[in-house]
Amino acid sequence: MRDYFRNIYVTVKSILIGMRITLKYCFAKTVTVQYPDVAPVLQKRYRGFHYFEIEKCIACDLCAKACPVDCIYIEKSGPRKIDKESGVAKGGAMTRYAIDYAKCMFCALCVDPCPTECIHMGNVHDLSGYTRESTIVEFTDLAEEGLQTPQPLWMQKPNLPAWAAERKQRWIDFAESKDVLSEDPLRRREEMRKALAEQKVEKKKAPSKA
Ligand code: SF4
Ligand code: SF4
Repeated sequence: MRDYFRNIYVTVKSILIGMRITLKYCFAKTVTVQYPDVAPVLQKRYRGFHYFEIEKCIACDLCAKACPVDCIYIEKSGPRKIDKESGVAKGGAMTRYAIDYAKCMFCALCVDPCPTECIHMGNVHDLSGYTRESTIVEFTDLAEEGLQTPQPLWMQKPNLPAWAAERKQRWIDFAESKDVLSEDPLRRREEMRKALAEQKVEKKKAPSKA
């Protein structure tokens, strides 16, 4: 009999504790964001989908080797190196640079070892796909379109909310890239396309002996 009343007491007490928490949130300030009409607030060091500056990549594989889950795939047709005059990489073609986001943990371990600082964590947080294969982002294909980072499907539609249109434009203008090509988005686009094909490295002539 004692247990019977004790169980009733514990049950009522648990319900009251639960209801107290529920009621507290009923009157708390709402934190729901009407996304995508309203921009989500991202922290400064938020690690979203990468952005990749293919024109500076020397295909050294250091990022792929640092990746703990082996989700970066790099293929090239020959050695590449940075041309000091132009500040971009030349040599063999970048035939593939891809990241499998079904595996990526957004740990950023691939970013630090890059000798030319051309792979970065970006601020695109919203990517979805209809197939497992579509989680593999081919950055070489994006480069052909003049893009450094993938865009969510909904952002490819017209009539975007102002914040999304602005963010999209920043990516189109390469606003996140701060380097020798910062002032010249047209040239960057051209160099991105050039990185997809073989480029001869001009050999400097040895100074003639007087
Ligand atoms: S963020 Fe981490 S898991 Fe993702 S590609 Fe880079 S190293 Fe690999
Ligand atoms: S992104 Fe950087 S580390 Fe990775 S292959 Fe290119 S140059 Fe090397």
